[in-house]
Amino acid sequence: MQMWEKLRDPETGRKLAGKVRELAAQVCDRLGRRLIFMEVCGTHTMAISRSGIRSLLKDYLELRSGPGCPVCVTDQADIDRMITLARLPGVVIGTFGDMVRVPGSFSSLERERALGAEVRVFYSPAEAVVWAEAHPSQQVVFLGVGFETTAPGVALSLRDAARRGVKNYSVYVSHKLVPPALRALLDDPEMRLDGFLLPGHVSTIIGCRAYLFMEDYRMPAVVAGFEPNEILDAIRELLEMLLADRAEVRNAYAHVVREEGNSRAQKLLSEVFEVDDAYWRGFGCIPQSGFRLREELAAFDAARRFEIPTVESRVPPGCACGEILKGKLTPKDCPLFARACHPTHPVGPCMVSSEGACAAYYRYEREV
Ligand code: SF4
Repeated sequence: MQMWEKLRDPETGRKLAGKVRELAAQVCDRLGRRLIFMEVCGTHTMAISRSGIRSLLKDYLELRSGPGCPVCVTDQADIDRMITLARLPGVVIGTFGDMVRVPGSFSSLERERALGAEVRVFYSPAEAVVWAEAHPSQQVVFLGVGFETTAPGVALSLRDAARRGVKNYSVYVSHKLVPPALRALLDDPEMRLDGFLLPGHVSTIIGCRAYLFMEDYRMPAVVAGFEPNEILDAIRELLEMLLADRAEVRNAYAHVVREEGNSRAQKLLSEVFEVDDAYWRGFGCIPQSGFRLREELAAFDAARRFEIPTVESRVPPGCACGEILKGKLTPKDCPLFARACHPTHPVGPCMVSSEGACAAYYRYEREV
């Protein structure tokens, strides 16, 4: 059987699921309690909900979503600043689709578009540069949202715009870095976790080595792929480590992720960005957890190019997105879940994003 066939083979999945349940029962017996693992990737959250893995293992372990959805972790103040930018005359906001419906404190990009603002969904930042070049009388501001995975595309667009002299292109930089957020979770004395499923896509860029600091916290962690069989396999590795009393960073996605990551992408990122403190929804400021543009590219920084009036930001009353992103609550703990908040009327970003925990639970795990 070819590797890709094995990844999707139902019989392999059944055997793996049986093995995982058996191991989980042994670990629970030994510890005298259920386990809690956290997945730190919105695509994992969706795959776990869609495949039923969460309910399959619920007797032994809880799979909790962490800060793995890029739209969801974007701080409310940043959302408000993006909406404020959309209101400026002559500004065209370029973005990926999910950002458009995220509610800010006073509006959303979707609402501003209905009121006449120009908000365009681009498939890539490169497309936004091309569009800017063809429309020199407009100022195109691309929203740089996402983790280490999307930042290289934005970096390339900036390098391209600088090289071609596309002066009406800029980026509102709100990129986030995953390892500092993991450290923030591990430093939280209230956090009770037994292991981490690490994000496959981000790891292709930063490599497994970037997580080695987790071993100092004695926290087992495994980089996982996205097929249900790959996720089960990563959970199996976590359970085997717990049984053997080991706490290592392992790679269960080795056919895609290398120890050292993608050095070309890393070089590109360091040429365009500098690491900086960043604000995350729910966490507040996490030191050295984001990017800012290097000084030589400051002219392409939308936050510097435009005077963005200050607005008072507030998270939607009752919305528990911040606590969900920290793994302290699940979507079903939010009193608004599936009542005041649902996909057609999202109150917080976790219900908007296609990688949000609330959207995943609503779609696949809602008891009707
Ligand atoms: Fe926020 Fe809605 Fe999720 Fe509640 S259900 S945490 S209001 S997004």
